[in-house]
Amino acid sequence: MSIFHLINQTENRRLLGNVISNSRVAHAYLFYGPEGSGSEGFALEFAAMLNCLSKTEQPCGICQACHQMKTLEHPNLTLVFPVPAPKDSDSDDSPFKQFKEAEMEEIRQTIQNKSRNPYDKITVKKGLHIPISFIREVKRNIYLASASTGYKVVVIFDAHLMTEQAANSFLKILEEPPAHSTFILSTSYPDNLLGTIQSRCQMLYFPPIPEDELQNYLTEKGYPAENIRLAVRLSGGNVTRLIQLIEHDLQTVKEMTLAIFTDIARWKVPKVYEHIREMVSLYREDPENFLQLMQSLIFWIRDAELIRKGQPIEEIIHLDYIERLSGFVDKFPDFEAQNMKASVENCVDFINRNVYISLALTEMLFKLKDQLTNHKK
Ligand SMILES: [Zn+2]
Repeated sequence: MSIFHLINQTENRRLLGNVISNSRVAHAYLFYGPEGSGSEGFALEFAAMLNCLSKTEQPCGICQACHQMKTLEHPNLTLVFPVPAPKDSDSDDSPFKQFKEAEMEEIRQTIQNKSRNPYDKITVKKGLHIPISFIREVKRNIYLASASTGYKVVVIFDAHLMTEQAANSFLKILEEPPAHSTFILSTSYPDNLLGTIQSRCQMLYFPPIPEDELQNYLTEKGYPAENIRLAVRLSGGNVTRLIQLIEHDLQTVKEMTLAIFTDIARWKVPKVYEHIREMVSLYREDPENFLQLMQSLIFWIRDAELIRKGQPIEEIIHLDYIERLSGFVDKFPDFEAQNMKASVENCVDFINRNVYISLALTEMLFKLKDQLTNHKK
């Protein structure tokens, strides 16, 4: 069974199962793939496989070791992740010595979140790098005899964020690998690691998750069907992003999409300027969310086009707004779908090229209004 509720990656799961059944555990692995493809979760899953007391290929999920792995509290498991640089970089202190109790509590919280959702990132405020003190801490413990059976596993999340000093110190460990232990580096940027580290690791690629598997995953988790398709499309195969989208950001994006098209259709100029102000502040507060809104506008146009062509409704992304979409198509049967999509895309393009954002948005909304009716007719 899977301890961490990970989406498939069947091939990698099989490979790791073989490693266990053949007892051919390497000293170091590099799990890499695009953000949110599960390399972090599979690093944890592999740690559980290596320590499960039932000695099966896949972790049993019932033994004490599995329970401790599930909560990320197994004594054989060490997690390494980016933290703020200590004031004195030469100090031998633990990287955690600098934190106050409240900050430590936040770190414990983020680790707990990770145990519940392996696609969640462990994030520490101002944690931009993995400092050498963190690797030294690992080094102090990794050569000591283990209190429990099984493998000591050190998982280094965002391994590319090791400082140069940290990476060199880590390399020294790899040159003298401790017994019964393995290191799993996880990253979306393997090329940012030292070549000497890369060459000492067994590499395992985690491809992005296909859309239909993402859909099943959300359906099984019981999320409302009408939000699933938009979330899947916007996530780009990143499960971390997917869950954030469906839990937090999506409702605003959907409501704004509907409001924008409603007000373009009615063309009440003060309302249109209100949308421009809202979109500008969304862009400033959360650029990624802004881009999702722009993408959602494109999906709306695409949906309307499918309805006009009489395509089956399973294809519709904004399924919960189907009546509004149909009403829109009835009112503007000649809307210029391609040009409208291009207007939104060009606007994003202008903004990326630092064109004054309010100006780009104003132009987009005025164009969209014109393109609702086909002037060539
Ligand atoms: Zn077990």
